[in-house]
Amino acid sequence: MPEESKKPVIEIDNLKVHFHVREGIVKAVDGVSLSLMPGEVLGVVGESGSGKSITVRALMQLLPKSGKIADGRILFNGDAGKVTDIAKLDRQSREMRALRGGRIGMIFQEPMTALSPVHTIGHQVMTPILLHSQGGKREAGKRAREVLDMVRLPRIDEMMRSYPHQLSGGMRQRAMIAIALACRPQVLIADEPTTALDVTTEAQILDLLKELKAELGMSIIFITHNFGVVADIADRVSVMYLGNVVETGRTEDIFYDPQHPYTKALLNSIPRLGAAKQHRLNTIPGMIPDPFNLPGGCVFHPRCGLASHEDCRRIYPPITRIDDQRTARCHVVAEAIKARNLETGSAV
Ligand code: SF4
Repeated sequence: MPEESKKPVIEIDNLKVHFHVREGIVKAVDGVSLSLMPGEVLGVVGESGSGKSITVRALMQLLPKSGKIADGRILFNGDAGKVTDIAKLDRQSREMRALRGGRIGMIFQEPMTALSPVHTIGHQVMTPILLHSQGGKREAGKRAREVLDMVRLPRIDEMMRSYPHQLSGGMRQRAMIAIALACRPQVLIADEPTTALDVTTEAQILDLLKELKAELGMSIIFITHNFGVVADIADRVSVMYLGNVVETGRTEDIFYDPQHPYTKALLNSIPRLGAAKQHRLNTIPGMIPDPFNLPGGCVFHPRCGLASHEDCRRIYPPITRIDDQRTARCHVVAEAIKARNLETGSAV
């Protein structure tokens, strides 16, 4: 687990990403704050439309044309102690290109669309190496072989000459991980990397990522809608709903003692082995609101069973610190923590 004294390698502070479309403005990310500590895996979990993928695309300056960073900071603390605010960089700038694919690697959900169908795996692993390092083709080829071996792909020479369509889904995902790791990044962003895989291959890719994290000491942001995957790989978890982080904490705390009503509802909707009497799955009541017509106050209030608190419909809940690792955005949680602190005389 990370040491408290270390500085985060990534620090996202009050990030807002807006999409300007014909019908108006969609606030896809609306004040997200989260941090990634050196050597940790941060799981970011939420339903589709929660803004989790848009947050990491903003971090990579890979937003679609209609999306703009409207506010906030994305600080990257480099190995050499240099702090860069990615939110201020132009997506095409030399500094951003050096970070993207160099210091920060990314893997995507569907390797078949992320990989080029007309270039060999060898060519695709060598490309970022040639782009980000001073060496020539010979050294790039050597590094490409090393990294293909590191992701446990077999028959390296044959692999270098293969095209994506000649590989299985699991092998393609390994090849994409090899491309992301080719330049020894400090941070790896994994955006739903196992969603398209069968459960056996998913387990193998998760094991590989855990081994690589330990071997290379890198930090990982792991985006998923699947709490089971988070439990397997993450040290800490941030739960997102409608463009914001509603709860953050250590993985075991989030699982065994969730505080935010949305986190509780999400966990309740997971089928559990051994729950013989559970004939129907619990679902979260109501629908995700229209992005052009978001509810006032807490955006979860139309679906929340605890929304009787008078502030829920009026005031957007601020972040409440529960302990040194946990925060939640909820008026009811804030009130409970206030009462606890009064009782114990502490001020967390
Ligand atoms: Fe529910 Fe109110 Fe908490 Fe929002 S602030 S999650 S509506 S209790």
